[in-house]
Amino acid sequence: MSKTLYRFSHRLSAALSLVFGSSLNRTHAQNKLARHIVALNGKTSPAEIINEVAECLKDILGYRLFAFVNKKNAGMDVWLDPRMYKTSIEDIIIRDFKIKDTKDLTYLNVHNDQEECLEKFSLDSLVHYDHKEENCYSRLYMMPSRPITEFHDDVVGILLQGCNSALSRQIKIQQLTDAAAIDPLTGCYNRRAFEAQLKGHAAGAGRHGKSLSVFMFDLDHFKSLNDTYGHLGGDEVLKEVSRLVRRNIRAEDIFARYGGEEFIAILPETDKARAIELADRLRQKICALRIPFDNRTIRVTASFGVAQLGAGADILKLVEDADSMLYKAKFNGRNTVMPGLIKVHRGETSESLIQAER
Ligand code: GH3
Ligand code: MG
Ligand code: MG
Repeated sequence: MSKTLYRFSHRLSAALSLVFGSSLNRTHAQNKLARHIVALNGKTSPAEIINEVAECLKDILGYRLFAFVNKKNAGMDVWLDPRMYKTSIEDIIIRDFKIKDTKDLTYLNVHNDQEECLEKFSLDSLVHYDHKEENCYSRLYMMPSRPITEFHDDVVGILLQGCNSALSRQIKIQQLTDAAAIDPLTGCYNRRAFEAQLKGHAAGAGRHGKSLSVFMFDLDHFKSLNDTYGHLGGDEVLKEVSRLVRRNIRAEDIFARYGGEEFIAILPETDKARAIELADRLRQKICALRIPFDNRTIRVTASFGVAQLGAGADILKLVEDADSMLYKAKFNGRNTVMPGLIKVHRGETSESLIQAER
């Protein structure tokens, strides 16, 4: 422990002794509690934070069962020790929080191995504590190893407070991280996040000899669309087009707003021919889109450029290639994909798609 943390833990321990009194056992417990609370502040994930709480309770009180439930907007995070009580504690959580299905529970430390999870316990010995903090509501279930005194209640209360402020800080950090990576109008990644993702994906593709492609598209005549329908109409189009694209790509594809009315997507494990096919499907869907706005219907088209990562995994070149293909698509009359695919007949029955840089 660093000197500053040590001093802080010492001071916290002295403050706790004012709350709890100063018998020898209590002093020991206070010192442990102070150490664990200081440690909570260095933890960087909910699982680590709750693990520290469990360690603290084990240290001070001992338990036969410890379960921590943290309520989120959708569903709940659960941390459980030992796992043999998984099925029994699930029944209790579902009843207490009126949850429909165990699918809404996300376990932070237990894997789905049902066989060892069927042990039952007596409800008489189960206690629970609740704590609410700004953006964080949690419940701690415990089967203590020995009878709980008021002192222990206070220990758990203080521990939960420390735990929830650490969890709540984590939630805020996550929200800030999202805010830095997500374009607020469209909900897509922004350009900065795209560049970071491309670096990682391109390095991975280079290492494992996998293909990777990108498509880039720009909405056609968007300036005149704005002039006709106003900026809000333009914004509506940006939202609808990005929603449509997100719905029609794979979960592992990364889709970002690259600038004004220009978007880009990373397609891992995809060669150029497949990327062109996808781009053309999206082009057709965008062209068929009817966007209701202000009692009118807006239509829009997009021009696409596609490129595949080369042998040197050069990401600047990859984006430049896609950009110059996009430029060609504009030059070729817009509402098109470059390079394009043309059908060629091979023999009587078979036909296949090849690339052509028209
Ligand atoms: P082209 O077919 O050659 O791409 O023509 P264009 O009119 O789409 O291209 P240009 O670059 O001339 O105009 C892009 C317009 O996009 C201008 C700008 O005001 C508009 N734009 C950029 N960002 C936004 C935005 O967030 N909302 C709205 N409504 N318009 C935007
Ligand atoms: Mg444009
Ligand atoms: Mg543009």
